Amino acid sequence: MAKKQFKAESKRLLDMMIHSIYTHKEIFLRELISNASDAMDKLYYRSLSENVTGILREDMVIRLTPDKESRTLTLTDNGIGMTKEELEQNLGTIAKSGSLKFKQENEASEDVDIIGQFGVGFYSAFMVSDHVTVTSRAFGSEDAWRWESDGADGYTVEAAEKETHGTVIELHLKPNGEDENYDEFLDEWRLSELVKRYSDYIRYPIKMETTRRVPQEGTEGEETVWETVVEDRTLNSMVPLWKKNRSELTAEDYNNFYKEKFYDFEDPLRYIHSSAEGAATYNALLYIPARAPHNYYTREFEKGLQLYASGVLIMDKCADLLPDHFGFVRGLVDSQDLSLNISREMLQHDRQLKIIASRIEKKIQSELTSMLLNDREKYEQFFEQFGLQLKYGIYANYGQQKETLQDLLLFRWSGESATVSLAEYVDGMAEEQKYIYYACGERAEQIAHLPQAEMVLDHGYQVLYLTDDVDEFALKMLHSYKEKEFRSVSGDDLGFEAEEDKREDSAEETALLEKLTKALEGQCKAVRISARLKSHPVCLVSEGAVSLEMEKVLSQMPNAAPVKAERVLELNPAHPVFQTLLAMEDEAKLADYAALLYDQALLIEGLPLADTVAFSDRLSRLMAGQ
Ligand code: ADP
Repeated sequence: MAKKQFKAESKRLLDMMIHSIYTHKEIFLRELISNASDAMDKLYYRSLSENVTGILREDMVIRLTPDKESRTLTLTDNGIGMTKEELEQNLGTIAKSGSLKFKQENEASEDVDIIGQFGVGFYSAFMVSDHVTVTSRAFGSEDAWRWESDGADGYTVEAAEKETHGTVIELHLKPNGEDENYDEFLDEWRLSELVKRYSDYIRYPIKMETTRRVPQEGTEGEETVWETVVEDRTLNSMVPLWKKNRSELTAEDYNNFYKEKFYDFEDPLRYIHSSAEGAATYNALLYIPARAPHNYYTREFEKGLQLYASGVLIMDKCADLLPDHFGFVRGLVDSQDLSLNISREMLQHDRQLKIIASRIEKKIQSELTSMLLNDREKYEQFFEQFGLQLKYGIYANYGQQKETLQDLLLFRWSGESATVSLAEYVDGMAEEQKYIYYACGERAEQIAHLPQAEMVLDHGYQVLYLTDDVDEFALKMLHSYKEKEFRSVSGDDLGFEAEEDKREDSAEETALLEKLTKALEGQCKAVRISARLKSHPVCLVSEGAVSLEMEKVLSQMPNAAPVKAERVLELNPAHPVFQTLLAMEDEAKLADYAALLYDQALLIEGLPLADTVAFSDRLSRLMAGQ
């Protein structure tokens, strides 16, 4: 049976192209500029392969000319141009790409970086125009042709005049609608901005005549006379910084680029310029900002790196390139071998992208590690801003990232230096020390004075000071570091009581503890004699999985389920208060003292008192000697 051909409803297809491929109208400019750049690359390539003299890359230029009166925007290039047949084939057939054909026919040399491949980019012009005229003269031909269309009812091609090879595309902009403003594409400032944004690294200059008002010489002051000067400006920077030779670049170059590109007024803490070849070929320029943006720890913040394909911006914030725990990194990646989808806006879930992302993650990790080891001051500055993110990273996803992140943590601590890493802590541990100790509180200074920490410190062991809500959760997730478990100084087993040191409570003491426990029923589980207190009379500790600190954090969460730490009140048997309790015969007074001691312990922990007035009454009675 004879096969029938599929028929495409060209008009509808075109309509679909125009209205559904791209989310931003403004990218028409990127597409047309990329085509012009391709046309010049092709001409250059041809001049090399056919030994044509007189074709110089320096002479090639793309020009933008907005004209407010006629509402037209014209793009001119002096590239390879198109013959009549090529105009019909390339612009008359949707999804026909002369550029793709060129790439396939010519083993494109290194120096040619053709962008086009889908054969639809040109039609994006109809998103903003109601009439498009393309006048083109192919290189090596005497004739020029004009292609014209208003997007819906086909196109015409007729002979035209043009003095040199190349292509002129004139867009007649649509009238402004209620929601749409097409005038913006006639505005010099807006056009420069779009070129900067999407086409900054097109290797040929993109020029535009711009007007500027300047004070006439000698008239500055009260009666300034303004005059308008016209300048022919190159809008793009052409050579991407990341493709320049590293040895030619200074820290200042990198920092200035960062500040301009990512709108920061401060130098970054560090820049990373990295390139890779092989499984994935790319250039990456990464920056660690000096300061977290004000919305960094909110849901509004969007992580991501800019993604370029052969120097053309594809995506402003490609989230897939950065893991959450390094979401603070700014920068960009440029690669030639990404499989783009037709709109060049987003990528299909790309294997290549995954490889790049994982390399970038490793690179960031190793740079941070080297900063921690070699530039501690800077690292501390970094950690101050983004340490919280690393700790969340450890806690998130059931600790999947803990290997990557644990060596990047820093803590305030009881030791000499301002901060300590886990590796440093473990290195400095005494041989018989079983655990890595930590204590929680609001501020490091306050933790340093916690009664619970005293005995640990007295043993010559150091204590990590945890001041962020997430800290203890992160350590619980880590469970241990280099086989040393983490222990809270308020936890039940501190691991350093030698068996022979264990004291037995006397009968008298046991009786007292029972009475006190009874007096505090409902508030704490038990009252015990402490092995960790030295100079303070009392402290509160917890038993079981939930610590007092975790109780505090969890109960602050919205819709918090009631979680309670199992509280135990510990008394210091060597403190005079303990002797007073032992000697006390008045049961009511003893209950009062029990309540007071418990409240004191709560205050030390920074926990609220259940009844502040009762506390004050008891204290007053005590002061009055009653
Ligand atoms: P793509 O650029 O993906 O190939 P387009 O629809 O943008 O698709 O362009 C279709 C074809 O038209 C291009 O492949 C190229 O052959 C031709 N073309 C477009 N613009 C120009 C130009 N300024 N100079 C020469 N040829 C062009």
